[in-house]
Amino acid sequence: MRGLNERYRQALGPDVDALAHLRQHVALPSKDAFDRYDPTASLSAYLTDSAPSLAAVPAETWRAYAAEARAIIDSTPHPSVPWHLLWNADAPHEQATSQLREAELVHITWAWSYVSPKGRNRYIANRVFGAQDVYEALVESEERARHEASREHQRALMTPSLRFDILKRDGYRCQICGRTAAEGARLEVDHKVPVAAGGLTVPENLWTLCHDCNNGKSAKEL
Ligand SMILES: [Zn+2]
Repeated sequence: MRGLNERYRQALGPDVDALAHLRQHVALPSKDAFDRYDPTASLSAYLTDSAPSLAAVPAETWRAYAAEARAIIDSTPHPSVPWHLLWNADAPHEQATSQLREAELVHITWAWSYVSPKGRNRYIANRVFGAQDVYEALVESEERARHEASREHQRALMTPSLRFDILKRDGYRCQICGRTAAEGARLEVDHKVPVAAGGLTVPENLWTLCHDCNNGKSAKEL
């Protein structure tokens, strides 16, 4: 394990030591926020905001490190001992079980809590994150970035000429109430399935609505 750690300390960069034994405590404003708290998403945001040099290491490197560490731990006489408690897993058996210390480079203690106004109810939970969790958090943030980029792309596809084509196709009428601009309607071209919900900017997913119907529709969907 020591050899593995040395090898990956190079690959992950010097900042890995700052992250190695990080302890985070997040105080939440309500019981609902406590129940809905997603520690992996928080770790992912933390890495992006506070540890950009580590977030910039390809996620694959973290996955490979986690897999190699897991293989070493699985080969010990006590693979069920939580990996973060296992010390120097390639040391002799006696040593591995008597000295319980962390085996992986990264071992982040992430706690979250909520205390009710008068302190009557206290809720606390925590998780220990290792390299595998860092990998999953990075994949999650990559997916979020990709999703965001594709939304921007879909919005950018909405050109004035496409908008005009849709208005023309729909006979310059609101497709819900049938009013035209001459009848006082403010016409808008709208996505049937919103871009935020994965809708595409293609004629089949676009229609002409008046401002009133469009807003009524938006309110209903919220
Ligand atoms: Zn309308």
